[in-house]
Amino acid sequence: MIYLNTSIERISGIGPILQKRLKNLGIKTVNDFLYYFPARYEDFSNLIPVSEIKINEVCTIQGKILDIKNIKTWKRKMFLTNAIIEDKTGAIKAVWFNQPFLTKTFKTGDTAFFSGKVVSGKNGIYLSNPIYEKYYNDSDILIHTGRLVPVYPETKGIYSRWIRAMVKFLLTQLKGRIPEAVPEKIIKENNFLPIEEALWQIHFPESLEKAKMSKIKFSFEEIFFIQLFVLRERAKLAQEKAIETPINIDLIKRFVDFLPFKLTDAQKKCAWQILKDLEKPRPMNRLLEGDVGSGKTVVAAIAALNMAKAKHQVAFMAPTEILAKQHFNEVAKLVVNFNLNIGLLTGKSDKFYSKKLKNSAIEISRKKILEKSLNCEIDILIGTHALIQDKVKFGNLGLVVLDEQHRFGVKQRAKLCKGAYNKTGQKTIPHLLSMTATPIPRTLALTIYGDLDLSIIDQLPKGRKKIITKVISHLERKKAYDFIKKEVKKGRQAFVICPRIEANNNSQQFGPELTAEGFPIPNFQSNSKLQAQNYKQNINEIFNPWSEAKAVKEEYKKLSEQIFPDLKVGMLHGKMAGKEKERIMKDFSTYGRSPEGRKNKIDILVSTSVIEVGVDIPNATVMMIEGADRFGLAQLHQFRGRVGRSKYQSYCFLFTDSPSKNTRSRLRALIDCENGFALAEKDLEIRGPGDFIGVKQWGLPDMMMNSLKDLGLVQKTKEAAKETLISDPQLKKYPLLQARLRSFREKIHLE
Ligand code: ADP
Ligand code: MG
Repeated sequence: MIYLNTSIERISGIGPILQKRLKNLGIKTVNDFLYYFPARYEDFSNLIPVSEIKINEVCTIQGKILDIKNIKTWKRKMFLTNAIIEDKTGAIKAVWFNQPFLTKTFKTGDTAFFSGKVVSGKNGIYLSNPIYEKYYNDSDILIHTGRLVPVYPETKGIYSRWIRAMVKFLLTQLKGRIPEAVPEKIIKENNFLPIEEALWQIHFPESLEKAKMSKIKFSFEEIFFIQLFVLRERAKLAQEKAIETPINIDLIKRFVDFLPFKLTDAQKKCAWQILKDLEKPRPMNRLLEGDVGSGKTVVAAIAALNMAKAKHQVAFMAPTEILAKQHFNEVAKLVVNFNLNIGLLTGKSDKFYSKKLKNSAIEISRKKILEKSLNCEIDILIGTHALIQDKVKFGNLGLVVLDEQHRFGVKQRAKLCKGAYNKTGQKTIPHLLSMTATPIPRTLALTIYGDLDLSIIDQLPKGRKKIITKVISHLERKKAYDFIKKEVKKGRQAFVICPRIEANNNSQQFGPELTAEGFPIPNFQSNSKLQAQNYKQNINEIFNPWSEAKAVKEEYKKLSEQIFPDLKVGMLHGKMAGKEKERIMKDFSTYGRSPEGRKNKIDILVSTSVIEVGVDIPNATVMMIEGADRFGLAQLHQFRGRVGRSKYQSYCFLFTDSPSKNTRSRLRALIDCENGFALAEKDLEIRGPGDFIGVKQWGLPDMMMNSLKDLGLVQKTKEAAKETLISDPQLKKYPLLQARLRSFREKIHLE
């Protein structure tokens, strides 16, 4: 007998090859199969007698095959299958292209349904390439013809025709045995279709109306599950213990007085929210959102300082080596008067800044760093992914800071927390502060990120000017170059971003750290399929057919030799050695301060997206982006945020050849909008939720994806989830919900 949780391997007719293909679609069980929803419906419901057919109309006829044969057309080298189909009212020819097997499928005298378009051609009127469906008795349910017919997202070897048959088979087998996962009360209150009917209607709807009703039910169901999961995780975390760290007002005051600038009110508010969380005996799980340049680092530094001075360690993780080093230098500078030991641990180099050595870091061995981390001789350990290796242990970890957290999977986050090892022997979980400049749209914040508390820096430091953003056609290229020359003459610096490293159109040419969307380039063995899929999608997007992707090496050669022969041009990409990258970044951040004497070591930096995240060069005023159509809005906004970080007027030039309307409207949004939060909402509108980090992890069926945009639904499901948990916190009455949440947890944590 087949059940919802029966694995697809146990279904006859699904052999190893199909199993593999289905698994690639995320289908492992009968339940998964039933939740593989159609992308759209073909309307073949117009069932008419042959006498009533009309040219150019799509119709379905039911008739008997009078004759069927294959013809090979020599000119075009293809097979035509011609058949004559007759019903009580008349006969019509049907023509299929390249399906010679049909003469085996049908024999003269067979009756079947045929759906397709009626076409008038050289040789008369015929039904073109009709979809067919044999039937054996009158009670057969039609699935391919004579109705609204589901069309599924297909992949190689998995076609709609087969899926339809399978779904029909499964639904028939499960008749009367599909339990409702959502509490009955919710179904009643919302007038949802009962589960079995909803499944039939979403696959084989009586009407579009009914299909829509089912879709509403399933959207609710999916979002409701996510809400439940997130609320439960939140409740669970609230039961865990964390180190209570009192706010050291004196210390914070001294730190703030020592800063070269005044904190914005928004920074103060956020710092305070974080410090208040650290006082509590349960782990903080807070997301600090703030537009690029809003000054998140210093807020994190306040929390780190407070924690470190309370004798607990801080782990500070950044997505790239460049950024980790920058944070290391920045944090070391900020806390220089506070007698702390700071370490840097990246994939390639290790540094250590000791309280005795003001402003100079010494390089020590990896072994030493690890030892010091375990012995609590390092107060703040800053690093890349290297921090989450099993070898890295902390003696007394109190706080984890993840910069640009949207680049990290939930799994890594959990791993860093788990890596915490407490000398006191008491099991505590470190407080967690995530930071991002890519804000999450409101609906997503209420769902998939709902277990985070939010702090928002909604204010830029005083005196920042709006960055002037322009889409530049290639006719104006020279003007843009001249403009850069002028800026450099004034002492400023410029970035030129290219989508690829080398001219060769080969994905291997990407730098080892980040794809253009900023994901760490996956190691396909250890990373999840999902991430690999993301990666592929990104790559596809980058290599869209429009505009030749500028390659960094080529562009560097051109700019340094032809365009700016008398300026200092540098190059940076992910394939360069860590030391080399570091040197370039150091050179680029060494700039002259006076408008007259140009003392920049590098005037123009040609780079791939490695530069994207967090890099801070206040003297840079021009951000020029080649192939802007190849990047997402959030990412373009990040690039733009690399300039405009000082009192100078800054500029962002977007180059594109893409005539696509979608591209235009995306770039338009970037021009109109300087606020990352509004941009995130626009990105959601234009590109859909699937592009936001973390969304795909939930495995929402494609068809339901857009329901994450629906604020009304999101709020309604949240209320329903809360109510359900209040009445039954352990979900004892709902084993199906429990199972569902378990599978979420496995997907998200163990992946
Ligand atoms: P982000 O939020 O993008 O990570 P950073 O933390 O890198 O921003 O800060 C951007 C720049 O602004 C840094 O050079 C930092 O020193 C500076 N900064 C931060 N806060 C303020 C402030 N209140 N006033 C002036 N400059 C500030
Ligand atoms: Mg930053």
